[in-house]
Amino acid sequence: MTAVKAPADDGDQPSRFLTELGVEPRDVTGRPPPPARRGRPHRRTARRHRRPGGDPRPARRRARRLARLAALADEDGQPLVPSAHPYRWWGLYDPTHSSIPLRDRDQPVALSGSALDQLANTCSLQWFLGREVKADAPATAAQGFGNVVHVLADEVASGRTPADLAVLMERLDSVWDSLAFDAPWKSQQEKEHARVALERFLQWHVMDRGGRTAVATEHDFDVTLEAGGEYEVRIRGSMDRVEADTEGRAYVVDFKTGKAAPTREEVAHHPQLAVYQLAVREGAVDDVFGGTRPEPGGAELVQLRQPAAKKDGGEALPRIQAQEPLAGEWVGDLLATAAGRVLDERFSPATGQHCTHCAFRAACSAQPEGRHIVE
Ligand code: SF4
Repeated sequence: MTAVKAPADDGDQPSRFLTELGVEPRDVTGRPPPPARRGRPHRRTARRHRRPGGDPRPARRRARRLARLAALADEDGQPLVPSAHPYRWWGLYDPTHSSIPLRDRDQPVALSGSALDQLANTCSLQWFLGREVKADAPATAAQGFGNVVHVLADEVASGRTPADLAVLMERLDSVWDSLAFDAPWKSQQEKEHARVALERFLQWHVMDRGGRTAVATEHDFDVTLEAGGEYEVRIRGSMDRVEADTEGRAYVVDFKTGKAAPTREEVAHHPQLAVYQLAVREGAVDDVFGGTRPEPGGAELVQLRQPAAKKDGGEALPRIQAQEPLAGEWVGDLLATAAGRVLDERFSPATGQHCTHCAFRAACSAQPEGRHIVE
């Protein structure tokens, strides 16, 4: 077990799990060079010999030198220059094709609301690598922040916790330290943001929202939707809150705790909100409407990290981004596009704003760092 410990209080600290091992940690300053580093000059030579025109020597001599480099090993028998061996020259291989399809074509395609957005609107390669290959980075403290705020919002809405900021802050205090932040100052800063988000949530919770009343929170659903006459898509998810409007229609609310918000145009075609509305149409909330099927009356994002515009109440209230009741064929088209991409396994990169924070740039042929070795 190893850990890094920075001398400053707000620098990297060893994981709290280390103390639970019951072994006294031993400080080691400086670090031995990793074995791979010892092979570094050889790796440069190997690269030069592999590249056509990279070395003026005749091919046979270059091959002999590469063979010698490939045979070098450290004291544990590990190759020092693995890249010298042709079995690691990926560019020489043909692309492989899996004979096992990703999804069974006879079954509905199971997707989540957020997956639809990635598949149909942003980048299907990013979806594939993140959700199917599961190469996404582990959950971050930002997700922990969102989870905590969602749980507290659910507790208030269901009456298990009073709508009182002091009580919520006490609950927040009891779990906050288990969230892993990079440094104590970051934890403090985020806790303050969480306090503001909870305050906004409470204001929103008690205010008049056009006569709507809450009928369910954290409402799980599982519906199968028809997509463009050709596919079926199964959507499973959870609605943060379901409300009944004055006309008896179902209105779905989704709390957001992220720093970014979609534009007005994006909200009008927001896949996640649209899927909630479709799910209502397919009976996802019948059980909380006394067994009758309500019409969808719209859906909205409540941005708890972001203040409302001055004319809508200012700092104390969250920014609300509402989607009208569904009209037209666009959601069906969106579902069909997403399902078609998954079943036909069309995962080409599609660049845009979303590339900025993409974790897969080094594996993406549309980015310079992910370019194929041999074009
Ligand atoms: S870098 Fe951009 S194009 Fe490439 S996988 Fe990521 S989101 Fe897609």
